[in-house]
Amino acid sequence: MALLFSNATILPMTADEARPRTFTGWVGVDGRRVTLVSDSEQAAAAFRRSHATLREIDCRGKLVMPGLINTHCHAGMTLQRSYADDITLMSWLNDYIWPFESRQTPDEVALGMTLGIVEMLLGGVTSFVDMYYDEDRCVEVAERLGIRAVLGCNYFDSNIEEVFPQVERAVSRAAAGSGRVRIAVAPHSPYTVSPENLVRGRELAERLNLGLMTHIAETRDELRIVRERYGRTPVEHLDALGLLGARTIGAHCVHVTDSDIETLAARGVTVSHNPQSNMKISSGVAPVEKLRRAGALVTVATDGTCSNNDLDMWEELRTASFLQKSATGDPTVLPAWEVLRMATANGARAMGYADGELGVLREGALADLIVVDLQKPHLQPIHDVVSNLVYCGKAADVETVVVDGRIVVEERRIEGVDLAELYGRVAAAVRRITSVR
Ligand SMILES: [Zn+2]
Repeated sequence: MALLFSNATILPMTADEARPRTFTGWVGVDGRRVTLVSDSEQAAAAFRRSHATLREIDCRGKLVMPGLINTHCHAGMTLQRSYADDITLMSWLNDYIWPFESRQTPDEVALGMTLGIVEMLLGGVTSFVDMYYDEDRCVEVAERLGIRAVLGCNYFDSNIEEVFPQVERAVSRAAAGSGRVRIAVAPHSPYTVSPENLVRGRELAERLNLGLMTHIAETRDELRIVRERYGRTPVEHLDALGLLGARTIGAHCVHVTDSDIETLAARGVTVSHNPQSNMKISSGVAPVEKLRRAGALVTVATDGTCSNNDLDMWEELRTASFLQKSATGDPTVLPAWEVLRMATANGARAMGYADGELGVLREGALADLIVVDLQKPHLQPIHDVVSNLVYCGKAADVETVVVDGRIVVEERRIEGVDLAELYGRVAAAVRRITSVR
């Protein structure tokens, strides 16, 4: 059935100008694609005539825009939300996170991912890039909930032999599905994976024609360790091993030199900026403005629920902008419009979609869009709707979500999920995991 969103404020995110363009009009969806974006009543009438089965949704007082794209998270870790906060990194890992993870079954990882995806969809995230284990098990979760995803199979030296077969299984499961789920190879980082195993990951990605993702230069400790072991920065190290290219997503990139920035831009690496995570675990501030000026592709992300602790991209947009203004002492950097582009069009490129295919509202693009209710006290008055979205918007303002032409959230209700039942299963799983000794 075709969809027609009528009388909406439309933010297409296709403009290359300094200022975004908005207008009042109609967005039509047929199958998986947007087939109408227009301010013409005649064009809307023609769309109605040419679609015998049509659902028309009145969007007066609402805004229609591309869905948000979260380019780095660990959705399967969502059962660990707020399990261990406000402690040092080593205690956090040794005493809490790793013991918890060793007790989780693949079904419990899938349950954590279900909760994470539900949170993201309800907050207007239509695509996400994930990095965790048991991703082969999680293909089905992403397919069932209707979100678009790149699932990165995370490995360390210790579990590479276990994870590589999972990559192949995940690829065949994704190939048998809707086409919305893609798989990537995800070595954890240059300090937790040996040079040999980083190269093996690159070779696997090349053989299976997959993207790569890894954490890069997240903390000062990582910088020190990589320098001590290899005499290079993390970026220099990964570049020497051939891991940096246009199909690589590097999460964080906080501690990078000017020459690292040039390398990231020259290789076409996507930098996934996770401002709240960097703040919470005292990693530092990524030089986003410098990276952008150097021509690097910069995107925005939440990271996992252990270091954030939510998957709310609206908060992340606001924080990205404010943090960069604060760190540089320049209030003109990272304006609202730029940060919104990082979370839409740039995110789509990071996921491997061609320009204009995803992350924009234009005729012919994939139909991943959200309806935001502007009738909220914190969104009025509207001098500048993009400023309102980025500096005032909240996940709960998202009313309806469409992915791949299908409504997956409508009036804040998520399709096919009984939330009370989900929370019950989550509570039971957490009880089981934390009671095992
Ligand atoms: Zn991460």
